[in-house]
Parts: sequence; C-alpha cells; structure tokens
Amino acid sequence: MTGNLAYERLHANLQAMGWLTLERNLDGALELGTKEERSFAEILDGLVEQERKARQTNLIELRLRLAGFPVRKTLEEFDYKAQPSVDRKTIEELATMRFVHSAENVLFLGPAGVGNTHLAIGLGRGAARAGLSVTYTSAGKALRKLKEAHERGVGERALRTLCSPKLLILDEIGYLPWDKESAHLFFRIVENRYERVSTIFTSNKVYSEWGEVLGDPVLASAVLNRILHHSTTVNIKGESYRLRTERRAGTPTPVIPMETPMKEKPRGRTTEE
Ligand code: ADP
Ligand code: MG
Repeated sequence: MTGNLAYERLHANLQAMGWLTLERNLDGALELGTKEERSFAEILDGLVEQERKARQTNLIELRLRLAGFPVRKTLEEFDYKAQPSVDRKTIEELATMRFVHSAENVLFLGPAGVGNTHLAIGLGRGAARAGLSVTYTSAGKALRKLKEAHERGVGERALRTLCSPKLLILDEIGYLPWDKESAHLFFRIVENRYERVSTIFTSNKVYSEWGEVLGDPVLASAVLNRILHHSTTVNIKGESYRLRTERRAGTPTPVIPMETPMKEKPRGRTTEE
C-alpha cells in the first residue's frame, strides 16, 4: 500500500470508529511530530490522550444534560458565610460522593430560599462529574408523571426508570400536600431505592410534618424509617438568601403572597447528622 493510501484509510477508519478528536488532530500531530523529531510512540500517545480527554468531557456533559437540572448551581458558588447553619465540612464530605457509593441518603430541610435546591444541584453536578448517573426532578413532577404512566398501563416501567440512577434528587417535598396515590407512589420510590442507591430529598417541612404531607402518619413513619436509616440531614435555618441580598442592595423587601403553606414553627430546626 502506498503512503497516501494508508493515510487516507487511517482517516476513514478513525471516522468509522468514531475517534473523531484523534482524526481531527492527526494531520497537525504528524506534521509537528516530524518537525520536532518525536518518536512514533510519542505522537500516538499525544493523540490518544487528547481523544480520551475529549470523550471524558463529552460524557460528563451528556450526563449533566441527562440529569435535567433546572438551573446551573455549583458547590463552589455556595456562600457559607451567608448561611452559617450549613456546616462546610459536612458538605465537603458529601462532595466526596462516598454517600452515593454506600447508597446513603441526604436531606436538606429548610424554609424557601435558603439554599436547599442549590446544595442538592451542586452535589448532583458533582456526582455527574464523578461518572455517576443522576436524575433531578421535583417530587411533585415525578409523582405526576408516575400517575400518568400508571393510567397508561406503563407505571411499573416508569417507576423502574425513575429509580434506576445512582443518585436521584427529589426536590421540593412538602410544598403541596399529596393525595393517597401520590403518597403511596412516594413510598414505592423510597422502598425501591432503600439500601441500593442514593436519594437527595429537599423539603421545607421538618420530619414531624411529613405525616401531613403524605396525609398518613403511619406511611410517613415507614417512609422516614427507611430514608433516615443511612442518611445525613442538613437543617438549614435563616431567611431567604434572595430576599436578603435584595435588601442589602437597597431594594425594599417585597410582600410575598402565601402561595404555599410556609408556616414557620417556633420549635426551630436543629442540625443533626
Ligand atoms: P430553596 O431553599 O428554596 O431551594 P434555592 O436553593 O433555590 O432555595 O436558593 C434561592 C436562590 O438563592 C438561588 O439562586 C441560590 O443559588 C441562592 N442561594 C441561596 N443560598 C445561597 C448561599 N448560601 N450562597 C449562594 N447562593 C445562595
Ligand atoms: Mg428549592
């Protein structure tokens, strides 16, 4: 085979196998390699390394897209000084992803605007970067979808799909009370994932109020028993970060209509692990 033929077949084969970064960088690397008198192994090593890095980046981006995060929030952006009830060490320990590898749960409990969703998404992004499958959904949306799937006769498959990722984030538990079917489906999710895979829950309700959310104290207790068996709870206190920063900037605090039951109970929240 002539050199030209080999060169053309190399390009064609790389394309056919999907080694696209290597294919794109091939000519430049061959040229530079000849000029700098690099060995064949050095040239090939450089090309393969670039291909591997590109694939890794693409895979992370794909996983982040598939996770379905509603906004981009990272742990690096979280201002611990503004939120002293959140222990940085606890979050850093969670960020090692050991909790996912040991199928433990995380609960972020606190009133609206204090960073529950921010921290959940930050951990979720960390998990995707670490190569773990992640799904984000509000709890309400997940339950609505499961109900619809049941009506179409594909409920079990939908439940299996929802429960398959290594890390599932169920955001906003407790903003609206659930009907009987939703509460039962929530139990099914918790039961399916128990001691097998990790779930992050966020809620504006303390444990004792979950009975009201699920509309059934016995079911709530069964759910919490499983969730809390291997878990870390981060109780977040204080006022909404958004409102506070707006006030600092000189904007008067807006009056928030009570669209959701956000009652603050005086008994308060304690951070326990
Ligand atoms: P919720 O607790 O209701 O889920 P979010 O996590 O959505 O609240 O936070 C509301 C907004 O305030 C978001 O834009 C979030 O990024 C921001 N925020 C809240 N707490 C902090 C914090 N400690 N540092 C930086 N941003 C914060
Ligand atoms: Mg939220």
